[in-house]
Amino acid sequence: MKTMPLCALFILLVLTSFSACADSQSPYAATPEEDPVPQVVWEPTLENATIEYGAPDLITDNVGPLFAYIRFPQSGEATDYLIARWAQEIYQSALDEIEAQLEEDPEAGGEINVQFNSYLVDGRYAGIMERGMFTGSHMIHPQDIIRTFNIDTENGVLLDNDDILDPLRSRIVLKLLREQLLEAYPDAAGSLGEAEESWLKHIALGTEGLHVEIERGVALPEAVGRLSVTLPYDGLGAALRLGATPPELPDDTVATAQVIPVTPPVPWRSNQIDPEKPMVALTFDDGPSIHTEKILDLLEQYDSRATFFVIGNLVESRRETIERAFDMGSEIMGHSWDHRNLTKLSAREISTQVTDTANAIESVTGLRPQMYRTPYGAVNDRVRDVSGELGFAIISWSVDPRDWQTRNTDAVHAAIMRNVKDRAIILSHDLYGTTADAMERVIPELLELGYQLVTVSELMFYSDITLEAGVVYYRGQ
Ligand code: ZN
Repeated sequence: MKTMPLCALFILLVLTSFSACADSQSPYAATPEEDPVPQVVWEPTLENATIEYGAPDLITDNVGPLFAYIRFPQSGEATDYLIARWAQEIYQSALDEIEAQLEEDPEAGGEINVQFNSYLVDGRYAGIMERGMFTGSHMIHPQDIIRTFNIDTENGVLLDNDDILDPLRSRIVLKLLREQLLEAYPDAAGSLGEAEESWLKHIALGTEGLHVEIERGVALPEAVGRLSVTLPYDGLGAALRLGATPPELPDDTVATAQVIPVTPPVPWRSNQIDPEKPMVALTFDDGPSIHTEKILDLLEQYDSRATFFVIGNLVESRRETIERAFDMGSEIMGHSWDHRNLTKLSAREISTQVTDTANAIESVTGLRPQMYRTPYGAVNDRVRDVSGELGFAIISWSVDPRDWQTRNTDAVHAAIMRNVKDRAIILSHDLYGTTADAMERVIPELLELGYQLVTVSELMFYSDITLEAGVVYYRGQ
């Protein structure tokens, strides 16, 4: 094992290290085919789909120089602001660092991407695991971001780690932790030392046990990456301070993906759509969310359809919403697994982002999408090439009401009505209540103007456009 460079040690000090790793190399700005610098390899699994506590909120910047996508749960509890403030702080630190770099290098840029899992345990305790990374043109390695929150929802307070685990009984916990690590990472037997308190810095209450996330390089060599294990509650014995009884296992969570029989392909409705009349495609990105149902209600009410570009890691936890949209004749397409800027990823990582999301969608709808939309609409030659090889067309848009920025119902409504044209593809985000509210007026008013609200596939079909893999489309006709 190589000696860990000093700079790498700083990576472990997640929130305090934003200015620690300046270096002349610039893996962010460059987009080589073979990146010489070890990158964070994302191995998304459906495990990441768990959202049991709160609804996702988001800090996002689609313009740069710091591309941002920080997702965190908000539940209406008194503790919400602590989580939101943390999200705002990591965003601001990253932004400050990039802006400082811009003074030296006008090409400087970066990306911060954070996702969460959340769990509601025993109907009372919530555990939140936030994980992600920050990378910038001036950094050799992306910095890991790990942060957990544990909440007693009955009393509306955050719990300290000591409130969850009795520090006097940490020996029980550390022994169990080491056992679980060896089980999860059997190759590590030779290099795993005695477990230390520092391994228990990031813990989150889960439905199946206590989730522990260990920063890279802390328990095992840095190359192994971050470590994730779950400590079953019954193994914690008297060290577990919460509740008298261990939480019951949920009857079904993420591991129960059932495959729905293949249904007929794209529901083109030649008997309902008049190809001679105007039509537009409403599209919604970044969901599904709690606001998607409202949009579906409206589409149902007005017998209309839309296209939903969904985040792969949300598919499993919102499968009922997706089923409903699909059954109503709307279209479900991918928007990457976790909203990374694909132009900054290797070909292999792009491929994983696209195919894992398509697999997840197919497991719900039975229909494999043939197109997707890239996060931020960011596309380069590599994204096009990989999409071409995988057989996916890339769908962009012609009307952008910037709903993620204004989050204002009137502004979203006005921007769409002002810019709509026949055969437009209209971008929106079903992540925001303000956007869902705007649709209350947008949908009936578009219909009143004579537009038919169709899916992207229908729009292309009636515009005599044959979609080609690896090509970007902005509108029909
Ligand atoms: Zn997006």
